Amino acid sequence: DAGLNVRDVSFAYGDGTPVVSGITFGLPAGKVTALIGPSGSGKSTIADMLLGLLEPTDGSILVDGLEITAKNRRAWRDQVAYVPQDVFLLHNTIAANLRLAAPQAGDEELWAALRKAQAADFVERLDGRLETVVGDRGVRLSGGERQRIALARALLRKPSLLILDEATSALDWQNQSLIAQSIEELRGQMTILTIAHRPSMIAFADWVVAIEGGRMVEVGQYRRLKAKS
Ligand code: ADP
Ligand code: ADP
Repeated sequence: DAGLNVRDVSFAYGDGTPVVSGITFGLPAGKVTALIGPSGSGKSTIADMLLGLLEPTDGSILVDGLEITAKNRRAWRDQVAYVPQDVFLLHNTIAANLRLAAPQAGDEELWAALRKAQAADFVERLDGRLETVVGDRGVRLSGGERQRIALARALLRKPSLLILDEATSALDWQNQSLIAQSIEELRGQMTILTIAHRPSMIAFADWVVAIEGGRMVEVGQYRRLKAKS
């Protein structure tokens, strides 16, 4: 089946205490899945396993039916993109920041990614150039602007899996809705996982997975879960 499958996955860090226990869920190709759970419930650990940065202690993760193994993990990492809550931007030009993900990309490709990330408008307003320097020595970007630059940078990787980890948790509603609009337009083009500790950005998710203490407590469609709570 197309997409990712997390199958009976557990994970323990160094001290051996499991922080993720027997988790099973699917990330259907082209769909938007939301992973929600309180702080410390294991969301980032699951993200790191999906990204190929951590290996499950037990169980397996399959991509289009093929298990991620030591052999193919590096190749898989090239197919994923990750947008964290705290975006790292170089104190350099917008173009340089975007080209971290795609060194060979021409300006047209960079603008296309900015448009998809709802970031082209404010870059045009800065002075219309990709050579605008951002950061301490240049233009100060708001949290939402940095987040949209980070989304554009993630898209330049042409990922098959895009993970947004608390990417909108600190943003105001205007910026949240711009990111939501981007995700809406990306639906169908890649597999998307949004992660949050509160159920703010999940209304548009096709599917919601809820965890607590490293265990699954719910999985289903948002409307159904909402009706129950
Ligand atoms: P969430 O993303 O939901 O906040 P995490 O996956 O970050 O949850 O953490 C799950 C549990 O694993 C927490 O109890 C956390 O303290 C623990 N943990 C996270 N990272 C490490 C680590 N590198 N070493 C040991 N324990 C960790
Ligand atoms: P907030 O957006 O929540 O107000 P800050 O603006 O204080 O957060 O910035 C948070 C972090 O991002 C700080 O480490 C800061 O140095 C860095 N930062 C701020 N503006 C930029 C920028 N334009 N480009 C890159 N990093 C920045």
